[in-house]
Amino acid sequence: MIALRRRIEIQGVVQGVGFRPYVYRLAAQFGIFGWVLNSPDGVVIEAEGEAVEAFLYALQSQLPPLARIDRISVAELPATREHAFHIRESVGGEGQFSLVPPDIATCPECTAEFLDPSNRRYLYPFTNCTNCGPRYSIIRDVPYDRAKTTMAEFKMCPACQAEYEDPGHRRFHAEPNACPDCGPSLSEDPVEIRLLLQSGLILAIRGLGGFHLVCDATNIRAVETLRERKRRSGKAFAVMVRDLAVARELCEIVEAEQALLEGSRKPIVLLRKKAEARIAPAVAPNQSRLGVMLPYTPLHHLLFDETLPALVMTSGNLSEEPIVSRNAEAELRLHDVADHFIFHNREIRTRVDDSVMQIFAGKPYPVRRSRGYAPEPIELHHPAREILACGGELKNTFCLTKGRYAILSQHIGDLENLETMEFFRETLSHLQRFFRVSPVAVAHDLHPRYLSTQFALRESGLPAIGIQHHHAHIAACMADNGLEGKVIGVAMDGTGYGTDGRIWGGEFLVSDFAGYERYGHLRYVPLAGGDAAVRQPWRSALAYCRDAGVDFAPALAAPKDLRIVGQMLDKGLQCVDTSSCGRLFDAVASVLNVRQQTTYEGQAAIELEMLAADTEGRYPFTIHDGNPFQADLRTVISAITVDLHSGTPAAVIAGRFHNTMADVILQACQRIRSHSQLERVCLSGGCFQNLRLLGLTVESLRSAGFTVYHHQRVPTNDGGLALGQALIASELLSVPR
Ligand code: ZN
Ligand code: ZN
Ligand code: FE
Repeated sequence: MIALRRRIEIQGVVQGVGFRPYVYRLAAQFGIFGWVLNSPDGVVIEAEGEAVEAFLYALQSQLPPLARIDRISVAELPATREHAFHIRESVGGEGQFSLVPPDIATCPECTAEFLDPSNRRYLYPFTNCTNCGPRYSIIRDVPYDRAKTTMAEFKMCPACQAEYEDPGHRRFHAEPNACPDCGPSLSEDPVEIRLLLQSGLILAIRGLGGFHLVCDATNIRAVETLRERKRRSGKAFAVMVRDLAVARELCEIVEAEQALLEGSRKPIVLLRKKAEARIAPAVAPNQSRLGVMLPYTPLHHLLFDETLPALVMTSGNLSEEPIVSRNAEAELRLHDVADHFIFHNREIRTRVDDSVMQIFAGKPYPVRRSRGYAPEPIELHHPAREILACGGELKNTFCLTKGRYAILSQHIGDLENLETMEFFRETLSHLQRFFRVSPVAVAHDLHPRYLSTQFALRESGLPAIGIQHHHAHIAACMADNGLEGKVIGVAMDGTGYGTDGRIWGGEFLVSDFAGYERYGHLRYVPLAGGDAAVRQPWRSALAYCRDAGVDFAPALAAPKDLRIVGQMLDKGLQCVDTSSCGRLFDAVASVLNVRQQTTYEGQAAIELEMLAADTEGRYPFTIHDGNPFQADLRTVISAITVDLHSGTPAAVIAGRFHNTMADVILQACQRIRSHSQLERVCLSGGCFQNLRLLGLTVESLRSAGFTVYHHQRVPTNDGGLALGQALIASELLSVPR
């Protein structure tokens, strides 16, 4: 019988995920001869043997857990009658593309070894294998190889080396392979660490992508102390729990949430907190949800025991600064926050925060895309030019595009201080080198004062393309869903720089990558004091109530402040018109006395969402003709105050308000459809983190015959903005104008 030979080229997530040993084992199983190697473009296989078709089929259907095939091409070759299968040396190449895998949570096999007293890695905190362990956080350069990671400093012992070289072994080419004899170590005995936690102390523990501040989540005083020291007055802390059973004691968990909790990425998942949850109230004040994650490194497993079922695990940083990763830096910056430091001696090359996800309609809906996800490329529908997109200001991420891939950085944070800007530069230089991207242009937000804009204009040295904030949001949603052509874009957002000098944020667009037309928006309302309004929802309430001709005296506001803001509004001093949906939510939250002062962006809106009850009923509004049309919600504000005065519960009013917003969006889209015949709607912007608003909107649009798209791979907030900016810039450079 004639042997059949095939050349197989595979692109996707196929490097650093145990792909070559997988191919090797399959080849042995099917009696295939030939070779496999890592190339700059992916993996190349030459396979020869009678069972080559079965081999090809199995290759695609039994992938290792972390691998993903984006494209595969197969060509026939003459047989060579080779009689062995080899894993060949990687071939490098200049200007080529090589994928850097994200960090991966400890796999079940490694966890079992780690817990087995007879295993040589029993309780060893740095256990890993080809299917799990640190990746992005320790890689210094590509191709991904031990010598180019921060594990290069540790020489493998003979036992580890043997595993590393055995193609049949789970640790074949597991670059961070280590054991107690040869690998990194902890500064403290785990028993000691648990004693410190049990006694209510706050520890700074060096982990995978940086330091965590950790304390017993059931210890009321410890959590309150941490909250005071971290000066994070209202924002919820994430909790790591011992296992799924503890997560179930604290929260309601549906199937999709469980899958996300237990999967290989192990993000923080926002879950519905049970009323009887045994956890300190200061963990997540005024919230019906709790951010929960499971242990994702062996070290984490060592922190728990019977008396420590749940730990607060929050980023080791000062309020809005980036996460701290170096031992000395931690001692310097966190000495006022932590009682005690737990170090290890494996360098963290790239800092990565924990990711945050929610489940919407049974699928992951990202809030913060970071560890476990970044820098996994987002596959694009069409090849893009090489672009750097700098993103926005808050929740910043940036994006590099190359070919059919968009590489979105991990969460950088709020670009409001020099430390965060430095984190931006450092990460950009890493990712540009890893992915060998040489941008031909830089895309930025139109806001002149954003540090990301200033970086683009003054520092990048590239031709700059300014992109309107909400156009970028809609383009991000299109790219997220692989859409082309014109769509109706609904951007419900906090703040975005408009092209008319006003603050936009409740926008109805018709857009594609090349441009947009502003068909309509929420009616402009004059707002006094710009940024102050974001922190003090009562200012928004005053503005929206005056605009609606309703008397309103917010609780908590000092009479003097109230008088001053009132005068500013009367005289139009320091007032800016805004169509922001976020400010409208703030105003309603304040009128209902849910929240008058905020300590983080979106707090009032989140608490309004939590308060809202399922209810019938909505408030009247008008859409005024015009180009653009304006959705006038003054009657909504007055109807809300009438409801309030007649004793309607705030939860019912909040519910009706959400219903109303979904109606506004529906009617706006119907108007646009009647002009444009477009049926596809993209929903984006920070306000769609509100799952009640999102759910009601999707439902009403679908039942009116629209095809509705929302985010699924990148955040709907400004964390996804850069993806849209990059694709718009790429399109503008490609289209002759
Ligand atoms: Zn493993
Ligand atoms: Zn070893
Ligand atoms: Fe935005």
